[in-house]
Order: sequence, then structure tokens, then C-alpha cells
Amino acid sequence: MDLSALRSIFLCALVLIIGVSCTDITPPPVYNGKVDLSEYPWLKNRRIFIDPGHGGLSEKDRFRHGPGGITEEGVNLTVARILGVMLHGAGCVVELSRNADIHVPLDTRTAMAGEFEPDLFISIHHNGSPRRVDGVQYPAVLFWGTAQVRPLSYQLACLLRDQFEKIMDGDGVVLSDLAIFPESGTRVLRKTKYLCPGILGEGGFFSHETHARHLADREYLVTEAEAYFSAIAEFFRRGIPSAEVLISSPFDDNHLLENAIHQRKPVLTLRLLSGHDSAVIKKGSLRVTLNRLPVTCKKKSPTDFRVHYSGRLPAGYHTLRFSFENTLGQPSMVFRSTFFIIPEKGEYQSMIQKGQSLINSRGGRVRGLRMLMGALSLGCTDPLADKITWHIARGFAMLGMREESDYYYGRLYHFFPESKYRKKVPGRLRTYRFPVDYRGRPVPITHEDKTPPPPETTRI
Ligand SMILES: [Zn+2]
Repeated sequence: MDLSALRSIFLCALVLIIGVSCTDITPPPVYNGKVDLSEYPWLKNRRIFIDPGHGGLSEKDRFRHGPGGITEEGVNLTVARILGVMLHGAGCVVELSRNADIHVPLDTRTAMAGEFEPDLFISIHHNGSPRRVDGVQYPAVLFWGTAQVRPLSYQLACLLRDQFEKIMDGDGVVLSDLAIFPESGTRVLRKTKYLCPGILGEGGFFSHETHARHLADREYLVTEAEAYFSAIAEFFRRGIPSAEVLISSPFDDNHLLENAIHQRKPVLTLRLLSGHDSAVIKKGSLRVTLNRLPVTCKKKSPTDFRVHYSGRLPAGYHTLRFSFENTLGQPSMVFRSTFFIIPEKGEYQSMIQKGQSLINSRGGRVRGLRMLMGALSLGCTDPLADKITWHIARGFAMLGMREESDYYYGRLYHFFPESKYRKKVPGRLRTYRFPVDYRGRPVPITHEDKTPPPPETTRI
């Protein structure tokens, strides 16, 4: 059959299936499946961005055609729309990256998501195998990065995989999208990685003879949308932990940089919210680093945790990174807050000198590393940057923090091709592997009027 005719029939079928015109951008109001949408009050006002994969290219894209004439982009759209109706019916605020069989560039999709500011990014796809003759069929769910840096996305991916397994043959898999695109992962998940948790569902193979028949069946696609719905509902039932950071020092609004302060011993408080009324922060789950160096926290109230660090902080950028879990087992994203301590005249040079000598003394390593990292942040393109990086790598090695040490050795070797320090980098790190770092989701840092405690004499 002629493809455009086929597509028209398919689009008409869609109109019949969900009862609205395909150019209508509002979700159709009716869902007649078995799920009682009023039983999920905790979904109210959750913002969900749904991205039906591909679109508008089925005539060119022969790979994404399955037996019986289905196209992946058509099936993706149908599932996305049914899911949209369900979530909308349960009180969520929903946006779709496309509501019709049109081509929407990937960057447009992620820009739309950025503007919408979702709590969750869901990309809906179906898989195709170049080994069609082998009857390949299983569900898969992808997330960006690793389970360590994206614990919340990984959690949702597992929940969806479990739901997929209930409706499909074959054990499902959860894996990083870096397993497919090792340099970058998928563009939609990569570009939304700091925005919110996100996953990409592959609801079985459109290239599989029997499964293609399911995917052509409206009732089955309702079941698939229900699988997404159940995973999302369970995900939100556990709460979404959030956080903010409070700092005692007022910001210098006249300074050119954001979050610029003068105080050298600011009180830093993490305000952690479990995201669920009946849950609190799980004891021992809070992990915090200040400039990559682990720091401890003292609980001041059920939500407030004071960051404990020794000495005064040097000039430059300082980044707190932290994550935790609530008592329902829901992890937070990895969060990040950065502030800037305004340098004094000549401080940069003295930080380099002092930092170098301090890392050679047993008791001064942490302070020395802070100084050198502060100095690097003040001059990351300076002719001295490679030297500072070298000393930071050494400093971490002397503290026994091999991963951090390797990270800086890697940066030195790969990012400073003209440095004389490259030949000192251990051979095992001279590979093609880029030392790329996940920074974490930015959380606001606000001034809290609090007098800093007197300087401490103990050091970590
Ligand atoms: Zn796809």
C-alpha cells in the first residue's frame, strides 16, 4: 500500500482511538480503562513532560516500520496520549513534546521541557532489532549516566521495567543510555539531566511479529500506558526529596559574580525535605562534599543539617554536592550549590604557594587542597593551571582518594596537551577515556541571617 495512504489511515485510526483531532494540542478528556484515577491524590499538580519519540518521518525512516504496517512513531504517540490523559485525569500537569505526527527536533523537545520545568521527563519509544529473524523481544528502560549519579532516574527505570515485565514476554533490562551512545547517551536525557529525573522507555520490539500485533491493538496500548502510569504513581508515592542551601554570609550584590560573599567561615546549612509527609531523612544516608572533599554534617532540626568544615575557606568557587534518601527508600537527585568567595589583592599567588606547601604536610593537606582548588577556579585558563592541577592530583593521592586523584590526572593529561606535567601522569591514565564529571542538579543557595561560630582549631 502507498505509504501516505497508510499514514492517513493510521492517523484516522488515532482520531478514532482517542477521540480528538491529531492537531488538537489539549489532551483528550476521557480514559475508560481499569485504573481508578481518583485513587492517586498524591499525583495532584505533579508536572510531567511526555516525549513521544520520533514523528513525521515514517516515509523516510524505513527501519521504524514493523510487520502489519505499524510505525514506531505512531505507536509512541498513541501510548503518550493515553498516558497523558491518565495523568491529567489524576491531577498532573502534563505537556507532550508533540501531539501529532510531526517532526520535532530533539533540541526543541528538550527546550520545551526546560521551559515547562517538569518533575519528571518520560520519553516513550519502542525498540527495533536488526536481528529481526531471531524474533528479538524484551522491554528496556534507559536512563542517563550511572545509578550513582542519577539514583532517582534509576529508581524510576526499575519501577517501569517491573511494570513492563507484567505485560510483556521476556525479562526486562534497565541500563544507562551510555551503553548505547558511550560518549554522550541519548540527547533528550542528556540535555535534561540537571532538570529532573528522566527515563526513556522501550516498550518491546515493533520488529517482533507477535508484539507488533499487540502494538497495533488499541487495548494493548492502553495496557502499556497503564504500565507507565503505575510506575510513575509508585515513584511519586515515595516522595521526591528536595533541598536548599542556606549561607550565613550576605551576598555582595555589587560583585560581578552570582552568590559572591566576603565571609571566610560562613555557616552552611542544608535544608532537606523528604518529599513525603510521613517520611523523614534516612539516618546515615546524607553524603556531602565541599569541593570534592567529604565533610560531615550535624543535625540541627529534622530538616536542617549544618555542614562541618575546619578552618577558613580560601577565595574562589566553592561547591557543595550532596544526596540523601528518605525513609521510604526514595533517593534524592545529586544536588549542587556553588558560592564564590571574593579574593583579595595578591591572594591568588599566595594560595598557590601556600597550597603547594600545605599538601606536603600531613595535617595541612585538606586545607592545601582547598586552596589549590580555589586557585584553579580563579584561573582555569592561566598558564599555571596545569601545574595547579598536577598538585591537586598529587594532594588527593596523598590523602588516599584515588578516584579524585585519577580524575585530576586525567584532566591534566587530556585537557592540557602542551603541559610539561603530562609526562608525570601515570601511564594507566593515558587512555582515550575523558574524565567527565556529573555536576548535579543546581539548588538555590540563600542568605540566612546567622552569626558564624568562632573559628575552630580542629582540622579534618
Ligand atoms: Zn525510538
